[in-house]
Amino acid sequence: MHHFHLCDGVLHAEDVPLDRIAEAVGTPVYVYSTATLVRHARVFRAALAGLDDPLIAYAVKANPNAAVLRTLARERLGADAVSWGEVARALHAGVPAERIVLSGVGKTGDEMAAALRAGILQFNIESEQEAHTLSAVAAALDLTAAVAVRVNPDVDAGTHAKISTGKSENKFGIPYARAAAAYALCASLSGLEPVGIAVHIGSQLTDLAPLERAFERIGQLIAELRAAGHPVHRADLGGGLGVPYDADQPAPPTPEAYGAMVARVTEGWDVRLIFEPGRALVGNAGVLLTRVIRVKAGAEHPFVVVDAGMNDLIRPTLYDAWHDFRAVAPRGERFTANVVGPVCETGDTFATARPMDRVGEGDLLAFMTAGAYAATMASTYNSRPLTPEAIVSGDRWAVTRERQPIEALIAMDRLPPWLSEENK
Ligand SMILES: *Cc1c(COP(=O)(O)O)cnc(C)c1O
Repeated sequence: MHHFHLCDGVLHAEDVPLDRIAEAVGTPVYVYSTATLVRHARVFRAALAGLDDPLIAYAVKANPNAAVLRTLARERLGADAVSWGEVARALHAGVPAERIVLSGVGKTGDEMAAALRAGILQFNIESEQEAHTLSAVAAALDLTAAVAVRVNPDVDAGTHAKISTGKSENKFGIPYARAAAAYALCASLSGLEPVGIAVHIGSQLTDLAPLERAFERIGQLIAELRAAGHPVHRADLGGGLGVPYDADQPAPPTPEAYGAMVARVTEGWDVRLIFEPGRALVGNAGVLLTRVIRVKAGAEHPFVVVDAGMNDLIRPTLYDAWHDFRAVAPRGERFTANVVGPVCETGDTFATARPMDRVGEGDLLAFMTAGAYAATMASTYNSRPLTPEAIVSGDRWAVTRERQPIEALIAMDRLPPWLSEENK
């Protein structure tokens, strides 16, 4: 459920007509809905209501915008970070350190030290080598790092290969067969306190069965560790729940179904559960507004050339992702078209032979479900400044990231002395 809807013939975000934002800020621009963010946070929490004090640590990478983070922090969500930058953003947005988890296969010693000093809740470690580094860093600071061992359960999440993280050939986590030994290693190293197990098998999951298989393996491991005399206080079950992008595809499992499965599988574990939802919270809380530059005749279907490019929204290029595409002021007519951006890459194609609202030059369009893994992946390819972002709450709206002026982009480069004006 989201709060983007037609009202008097114009697509609105909550009570704000999207053309008003496009006129004021220009296009392309991302627009987020506060009511949708809050709703998703509450639905997710309600779905886990049967559990004892779970921590919902929002996966910051899905959308690290400060207004989005602050909105979710006010819903008492924690944060799952995969870099010191994301920890810093979460802290800045008001997420308390004791609700922050740091994951990732490539944490550097400097990142570990900064996160330790900040007092984060837990490090999810992904290799034995990382345990040694973290131990050295913690010992040098005279601090103790609470550690969860991230297990690679070798489960096929059944999602796109590029967002699959729980198969043995993926880089993430420690193989199940080595996990107990890795836990014992952490217990033996100074500066580390093993507190639990973590798992995350992939993103945009549309079936609960692989998650359930992964969680069952975690349950076995917890029992095995306890039998060997290790305390286990927490289990971090990761994120991954999918969102509906295409209404013609089967709907992904609901948070309620997910929560019920978790409650059943984790019964008797006697741990604090941690969840790391990203996409499920923010995916359909955002749209990317774009304007049609022109409609160009094509061999079979016309090309709708929009002013958003793959540098603004790379998901279709990167993951073969499907985004619904709606006219902001639909005329009630449909046509079949290719939707492309202005970037000089054939991959800059959002849709091919897509039945959609008929649009013409100057019309506004919205890419739906553009709240997750969208603005955050934007680049400046083709010297296109980073996309601005706005957020709506009821009948109010505000810019939450300014459009970057091209001068600012150019000014980031420095000429070496032998090329600068003085030495021309
Ligand atoms: C990306 C990621 C998540 C969030 O995944 P979603 O599919 O957006 O829910 C959670 N945990 C870890 C470790 C991740 O890397």
